[in-house]
Amino acid sequence: MTHTPSIVDRIGASNGRIPFSVEFSPPRDADAEARLWRAVRAFERLGPAFVSMTYGAGGSTRDRTVRVTGQLAEDTTLLPVAHLTAVGHSIDELRAMCGAYADRGISNILVLRGDPPGDPLGEWVKHPDGVEYAEDLVRLVRDMGDFHVGVASFPEGHYRAPDLEHDTKYLVSKLRAGAEYSITQMFFDVEDYLRLRDRVAKFDAEQGAKPIIPEIMPITSLRSARRSLELSGSKLPPVLEERLTRAAGDGPEENRAAVREIGIEVATEMSERLIAEGAPCLHFITLNFARATSEVLTNLGMAATVH
Ligand SMILES: Cc1cc2nc3c(=O)[nH]c(=O)nc-3n(C[C@H](O)[C@H](O)[C@H](O)COP(=O)(O)OP(=O)(O)OC[C@H]3O[C@@H](n4cnc5c(N)ncnc54)[C@H](O)[C@@H]3O)c2cc1C
Repeated sequence: MTHTPSIVDRIGASNGRIPFSVEFSPPRDADAEARLWRAVRAFERLGPAFVSMTYGAGGSTRDRTVRVTGQLAEDTTLLPVAHLTAVGHSIDELRAMCGAYADRGISNILVLRGDPPGDPLGEWVKHPDGVEYAEDLVRLVRDMGDFHVGVASFPEGHYRAPDLEHDTKYLVSKLRAGAEYSITQMFFDVEDYLRLRDRVAKFDAEQGAKPIIPEIMPITSLRSARRSLELSGSKLPPVLEERLTRAAGDGPEENRAAVREIGIEVATEMSERLIAEGAPCLHFITLNFARATSEVLTNLGMAATVH
């Protein structure tokens, strides 16, 4: 396997300036792939510490995901992190996926359990020859060799966890199993992130020292934000929800420009607070567009950071 830097090393080598990173999703067709590559080239100029590629259900999307993530490693200056989920995979298939990533020089993997296909909030059914929890997949990937592993964390608690105490315990188990850092679910109240950080540190000081990278979604459309919120189990604070709803208006088409303006402002303010609170990196959901994140970075004076 090619030795690429780990995410922890990469975000730690930022000369005192907070690094940023971005999340892409696998394109569904040729047009979407062209758009992804426009975003990739735009971000290359902005110098993210790393870029992550989500992992979806469905065979053809999966093949494309591996191919495109491989191209990120081979044809760009970016450091890719491949998301990997346990959904619908036997252990042998999960091993084969890791092998495919290793063959393409990808050694950073974000390990997730994933959600049931179709209805993400539906009952989770383990593959008969697969794994039950992300923690098991962390062990599997770590046992395969030289991978650097990250996991998901949930500032508001995962929607399947009975309470925040269990949520913290399970996150710490993933970190103890060998994950080096976590990336959070998107959130809109920075206090939730700070409370998560405190909970983990209190539960286990050693694991609490591992980076918890906050994920930020600059909202550019209320309709699509609501869909993402539904899938993620995150909530908009009522005041923000009301502000966005008012801006969207009650016409047949939402007022995207007004929603976007608020979305960028909120993402900028959240980022400023996270920087002040010592977050290790800012991870932006891009939906494969560069503009909204670039605007937030420009507002933060980070658009000229080059790694
Ligand atoms: C940054 C980030 C990126 C993501 N990327 C993707 C992606 O690319 N593709 C995708 O499909 N999904 C993705 N997701 C969504 C994720 O797959 C879901 O949120 C999923 O429901 C939980 O995944 P997990 O890895 O946290 O699972 P786990 O850590 O396995 O947790 C699943 C549930 O089980 C509970 N649990 C954990 N361990 C135990 C235990 N030992 N006993 C009892 N209960 C336990 C947890 O509290 C939680 O409720 C992402 C989420 C985040 C935050």
